[in-house]
Parts: sequence; structure tokens; C-alpha cells
Amino acid sequence: MISIKMKEQVQNSSIIRAMFEEGKRLAEIHGAENVYDFSLGNPSVEPPADVKEAILEIINSESSNSVHGYMNNSGFEDVRAAIAKSINDKFGTAFEQKNILMTVGAAGGMNVILKTLLNPGDEVITFAPFFGEYRSYVKNYEGELVIISPNTRDFQPNLEEFEGKITQKTKAVIINSPNNPTGVVYSEKTIIKLADILRSKQKEFGTDIYLFSDEPYRELAYDNVEVPYVTKYYENTIIGYSYSKSLSLPGERIGYLVIPDQAADFENIQMAANIANRILGYVNAPSLFQRVVAKCLNAKVDVETYNKNRELFYNGLLSYGYQCIKPEGAFYLFVKTPIENDVEFCNLAKKKNILIVPGTAFGCPGYVRIAYCVAYRTIEKALPGFKALIEELR
Ligand code: PLP
Repeated sequence: MISIKMKEQVQNSSIIRAMFEEGKRLAEIHGAENVYDFSLGNPSVEPPADVKEAILEIINSESSNSVHGYMNNSGFEDVRAAIAKSINDKFGTAFEQKNILMTVGAAGGMNVILKTLLNPGDEVITFAPFFGEYRSYVKNYEGELVIISPNTRDFQPNLEEFEGKITQKTKAVIINSPNNPTGVVYSEKTIIKLADILRSKQKEFGTDIYLFSDEPYRELAYDNVEVPYVTKYYENTIIGYSYSKSLSLPGERIGYLVIPDQAADFENIQMAANIANRILGYVNAPSLFQRVVAKCLNAKVDVETYNKNRELFYNGLLSYGYQCIKPEGAFYLFVKTPIENDVEFCNLAKKKNILIVPGTAFGCPGYVRIAYCVAYRTIEKALPGFKALIEELR
């Protein structure tokens, strides 16, 4: 007999689970090569060669007990120091080892920080469209997710509505840029304005409001767009980073949190987050991959491959009459559906063996998310289906 809370979670997970089952069913009927699955954010570009070299070097040259053993719950000290230095070199910050906590991916990091900060009933604000898992992560700690409605003009956060929704109970705000599902990068102007609002609300309520910047797509940015480093704009910022997309290592579950000294109650947060990492059952981030990423601080996946997919897909869809903002980062297109009902549109797409995710799952109905982290050929083969779809709906 599963718990009432899990029953709810199981019911809410059904869209994605159903899609997964549908993909398998279609592949059995039509052959996997004739099913165009754009539903998952699973990197298609290989990890850089440095990753494999680092794994072999570590395994061949370091003591097995040290490579595979327990360490401080926040991670290996030398790895954290190397990551801090690398961030400082890139962004002119002044972090030290104590500011870095190694995590089980971005998801692990976010759970650690929410466990650390939230009391039951505390409010966490996020901006639609957003990564749907935030709902579960906030609920895990009995927080209330407050969703700001989407600004479909340019998909920068709707700051007017945001300002009005901050209350005495607002404990944290989650942003995600480059964004899943839109691919939009939040501009420096947006970050400055958002920081100003938060500072003024902290003053008004006499509270501390933490800004959590979820950054698994930081390295996937196109056309030299700048992705602002948020700790430089707002003192109470905590960064969640992940190597899932930046080094194409999602299954290895490796990332880190940056908790700056300037964050209010830094010492207690750092100590509590270390303990949260342990008692949530993660204990520590995977040891081998902590050591691997420390050796790959300047390695990059081939972003140009994603860029080519982006251009092909975006230009193709636009030429057929679809409306979509051009993504500046990540590997998703967020396309307005030619009919109002996005779930219905996904069902029609499925009839052409195309799997995409309704915007409803991201708190933004009337749109669909298309993940273009797939082979170029898959996009070429799927485009005629998209063309036929919109023509049939005219
Ligand atoms: N946050 C966002 C916005 C994501 O898109 C994802 C994964 O797709 C995650 C967090 C989780 O990333 P990780 O695999 O590093 O836990």
C-alpha cells in the first residue's frame, strides 16, 4: 500500500510515463528509426574525449580506496577548490573550497538546498514555463510552489506579476537560464531588475529571500550570448550547476552548489546543506566523477552540433508557419501550437510518429516542447511530418 503522497506523485507523473510507453509501442510497430522522439532532454553529443582520458588516468594512477571511498559529505576538498578557482577565473568571483558542495546532479543540489531552507508552508516562486520537476522537489519539503504566469512575448520572466506575488512567506525564488523548455537566456537587464525587486521586498518584510539559479544548461549557449553569473547581482544567490548537459554525463549524477559567503546565514546554510546531502541518502556525490570533472574543467561538448540542429529545426518550422522564439541556449524549441489544445496537438503528432511534450507540463498551455538533442537526420526525417500537421490543421 503506497503512501497518499506518493499516490499523488504517481498520478502526476503519468503524462511522461505514458509518452515513454507510447514511444516503445510505436517503435515496435514502425521500427525505432521511424519514430521521432523529441520528448527527452538526453544529450546526443558525446562527452568530450577528456572525460574518458580522465577516467582511465584516475583508475590507473590513484589508489582504489581513495577513488571509490567515502569523503567529506560536501565532496573532495581538492575537487571543490579546483572548481572554485575555475569559476573565479571565468567570472571574476572570489569563491573558495568552502563555497562549493558537490551534488548528485542539479536535481540532487536543488533537493539539498530546499531541504536546508524550507519550513512547511514556505513559498517558493518560479516563472512559467518551468522544469516540471520543481513541483515535486518543493513538495518534498512541504513548501508551496507559487507559479508566475508566462510572458509569451519574449519568455523573459514576468517581473510585474512577480513583484506582487512576493509575501512574508517567500523563502526562495527559482530561476533557470538558459531555460528548459524555452531555450531563452535571461538577460542582464532582467537579472538586475529581479535583484532590485528582491532587495526591496526583503527590506519591506524584514526577511531573507534566496535566489536559486538552476544552471544545467549554462555551457549550451549560442551566438556568443552572455549568460550572467547571478551571484554578482544579488547577495542571497545560490547556484546549482550540473555536468549532465555540459559534459553529456546525465547518468553519472554529478554537479555542485555554489553557496557564497555573502548569502545571509552562510555558515549555517553550508553546514546544514552538508548534512542534508547525507541524510537525504545521497551521502556524497559520486566519488569517481568528482575526480573526473576536476580534470575536465575546461572541456566542452561540441555545442556546434546542437547549433546545427537548432538552425535546421527552427528554420524548418518557421517556414511551415509555426511560431517559435529562437532559442539562445539549451537544446529545446518551445513552439506555439496551431490549435489551442497542446495535449491534443501532441496526440496528433503521435499519429505521425512524432513524440513531443505538451507545454502544460511546464505550466504553459498552448505550446509544445521539442528536444533537439537528437541526430540531425532524425530532424530531417521528421520535418515533413510537422509540415503535414500544420497543413492539415489549416
Ligand atoms: N533543472 C533543469 C532545468 C533541467 O532541465 C534538468 C534536467 O533536465 C535538471 C534540473 C536536472 O538535471 P540533473 O540531471 O543534473 O539532475
